[in-house]
Parts: sequence; C-alpha cells; structure tokens
Amino acid sequence: MYEVGQILRLRKKHACGGDTWKVLKPGVDVRLQCETCGRVLLIARDKLVRQVRGS
Ligand SMILES: [Zn+2]
Repeated sequence: MYEVGQILRLRKKHACGGDTWKVLKPGVDVRLQCETCGRVLLIARDKLVRQVRGS
C-alpha cells in the first residue's frame, strides 16, 4: 500500500500541469499533495489506485 512521503504519478494532470503527488496520509481516503503547486487533496484509495501510473 501507499506510504507517507511516497511520490505517485497520476494519469490525470492537475490543473497546475503537474502529475506527481506526495502521499501525506494513507488510509481509506488518501491525502495527497501536488508536488508542483502544493495543493492538498483527499481521494478515495480505490479511486486513486486506478489513477496511478506504472507500479
Ligand atoms: Zn498542482
């Protein structure tokens, strides 16, 4: 599963153009911070799994 500090690359780009996110808080809902603009969002883990690229 996801760990705090792990960097994820998502299929969908953020509004700022970035596509890498840092895990702030794993769980049923995962808190992510955009590496590019610093915006934080909360996303359901099952939804996130489908968005993550690669491994
Ligand atoms: Zn962003």
